[in-house]
Amino acid sequence: MRGAIFCYHAQNCGDGKDTISDHESLQDNLDTIARFNLPIIPLETIARALTDRVDHPLPEYFVGLSADDGTYLDWHDYQHPSLGLQKSFAGIISEHCDQHALPKSGMLTSFVIGSPEARALIDEECYEALPLSNEDWWQEAADKGLIHIENHSWDHAHPAVGDAALDPDSLGSFHAVASQEIAAAQITKAQSYINDNCRQTNRHSCLFAYPYGHTNDYLISQFLPNQGRKHGIVGAFSTEPAFVTKDTNPYCIPRFVCGEAWCGPAQFDAILTSLTTDPD
Ligand SMILES: [Zn+2]
Repeated sequence: MRGAIFCYHAQNCGDGKDTISDHESLQDNLDTIARFNLPIIPLETIARALTDRVDHPLPEYFVGLSADDGTYLDWHDYQHPSLGLQKSFAGIISEHCDQHALPKSGMLTSFVIGSPEARALIDEECYEALPLSNEDWWQEAADKGLIHIENHSWDHAHPAVGDAALDPDSLGSFHAVASQEIAAAQITKAQSYINDNCRQTNRHSCLFAYPYGHTNDYLISQFLPNQGRKHGIVGAFSTEPAFVTKDTNPYCIPRFVCGEAWCGPAQFDAILTSLTTDPD
């Protein structure tokens, strides 16, 4: 088995010139995925398959879809002040499911930030104080089931959080999360918050996406397989542009990031060609 997991950011609305939005990219990429006849597998299924392939078999080739930072634009259409209407990721994927008669279950995994205070500070600093990181849409999305709501840490070690951060000395770096105390606060505390504030049908938060894609040996080899697993965390996702194979470590699952690993349809096409033709 071999898969490619893609990561989008709904707050990336392009520049109105050369850089297309992640929304346009997702729309276009879905058409390409359909042309390659590749199934879209929920990230939870992929993660569980990496530890238990018997109960969670995967197709020979597959893709997965994810969105990081959990903004309002994952779920709602958004009229951008200068770039026009941005169709929500949910709307784009829902239409794709209608067109191709696909089940609307866990087709996108949204990795959200737990701390309300951190989200408010990020909105202030990054989105001109528009409340794009609010959690009002989580429950509605969970009730529909199209999107799985998952864990992107407590405060993202985001510079905008400043002195209110769990570890104000290592802002901008998740590599630095290498103690049990900070890891528990960043990962299992965020998981509890998401589970308390978003009741998902037949599931709980069980996945984690490393902020900035920053991993380290402590989190991959010690914290997540032990404390993380005890809390039901079965997979963690980086941003290394590589394919998922049977040998992938479930606590370091690679993802291709839109705008970094590929820009435009030709490069996306090349990733899928490589996925389905290159030998391991
Ligand atoms: Zn992020």
